[in-house]
Amino acid sequence: MILKGFKELNSFLETSKNIVIIGHRNPDGDAMGSTLGLKHYLDKKGHCTTVVIPNGYPDFLQWLPGSENTYRFDRQNNQSQKAINASEIIFLLDFNALHRVGHDMQDTLEKYPNDFAMIDHHQQPDEVKYMYSDVEICATCQMVYQFIEMNNDLDLIDEEIATCLYTGIMTDTGSFRFRSTTSSTHRIIADLIDKGAQNNKIHNNVYDSNSYGRLLLLGQALSNLQIFPEYKTAFIILTEAEKKKFDFQKGDSEGVVNYALSLKKIIFAAIFIEDTEQKTIKISFRSKGCFSVNKFSRNHFNGGGHDNAAGGKFDGSMDEAIQSFKKLLPTYENELNSSYEE
Ligand code: 5GP
Ligand code: MN
Repeated sequence: MILKGFKELNSFLETSKNIVIIGHRNPDGDAMGSTLGLKHYLDKKGHCTTVVIPNGYPDFLQWLPGSENTYRFDRQNNQSQKAINASEIIFLLDFNALHRVGHDMQDTLEKYPNDFAMIDHHQQPDEVKYMYSDVEICATCQMVYQFIEMNNDLDLIDEEIATCLYTGIMTDTGSFRFRSTTSSTHRIIADLIDKGAQNNKIHNNVYDSNSYGRLLLLGQALSNLQIFPEYKTAFIILTEAEKKKFDFQKGDSEGVVNYALSLKKIIFAAIFIEDTEQKTIKISFRSKGCFSVNKFSRNHFNGGGHDNAAGGKFDGSMDEAIQSFKKLLPTYENELNSSYEE
């Protein structure tokens, strides 16, 4: 755990400030929940905050309190730049390195003259002035709760804040089942429910709001599944043509990789998603046990993340991506087989 400069940060925040809060590109439940949760908290403390996100987020997060007032850097560039220029500090939430916001926004942030405060749970964070980094914690939303707790402000958590933070913890822990879920996580979740988070409603909003097209896309993804028992590995491919056929919307492929990992005796799963607009293959990696997909993705696919969940990309065709992935598997045969526990 790294906690750097927080005393100084607290004195800086003693008077009202203009603040921008940023999450990573392709924001997920934890990025949206943590930025909005922190926003509501800092607003209550008398600050003036704006959440700026790099690009769009899925439909199943559109109901989050405050999401209607966020700026999208790609679409509302003027307003976003204005907010950034007017800010006295920027909070970076749920990402560890500036390149995670995408090229355009990265350029803007690199020119930013004031300080950054990072709250994040990814490995190997960039150097910034104020930092709360803990790779052991399941979700940035849990860290925002703990940040509020460090400031002795738990009483300020209301239904809006509780709802935002609950959502990110729920999504980043696969509904409280991943290894990173601890008894502290459950205590925090209990407190968030006591403070007004309606757990049943949040689960329904996020998980039971599928379009018919999304289910058909899932069917297609499952029929594309390939299994390599000798490497305890399975992967899924989704091509641009398949995405078009089932009216792909942002977020539709979220969680699909977990079906590959749900197979008995499989500990390493991947999904390769073609993105012709970005001219890349976006990859998600997941693992069970001690096989680190963070390292795997960092070493071979320009990415990173956590030990059991990481993302990456491949600049080339789908066939080339799959070939290079398959070629790597024999190198990891021993590690994959020794990571497997009955
Ligand atoms: P996903 O597969 O859901 O996109 O990402 C899994 C995890 O890895 C998330 O925590 C995400 O923030 C992180 N991640 C995804 N892509 C990258 C990447 O390119 N670099 C790094 N460092 N982390 C990533
Ligand atoms: Mn996260």
